[in-house]
Amino acid sequence: TYVITQRCVGIKDSSCVAVCPVDCIKPLPEDEEFGQVEQLYIDPDTCIECGACMPACPNDAIFADEDVPEEYTSDIAANADYFLSK
Ligand code: SF4
Repeated sequence: TYVITQRCVGIKDSSCVAVCPVDCIKPLPEDEEFGQVEQLYIDPDTCIECGACMPACPNDAIFADEDVPEEYTSDIAANADYFLSK
């Protein structure tokens, strides 16, 4: 799966949402909760690992899970946990 790291916090540019072919990046900008969460997340159960989102991010916040930098590895669970709470 691909993972959105904490580099997204406070930015939430959301360019990735538009390019994801399976709509697994949440919350959507139009969702009411969008303003209440600090960053976007990728649903690991739905992501098809196409990689389209990665170059779309203006802040290089997205990585394939095996390439997540050491300082951001906790974000792998954070992405999955967001969808478990839904
Ligand atoms: Fe969506 Fe592809 Fe990114 Fe997975 S890798 S979140 S399917 S754009």
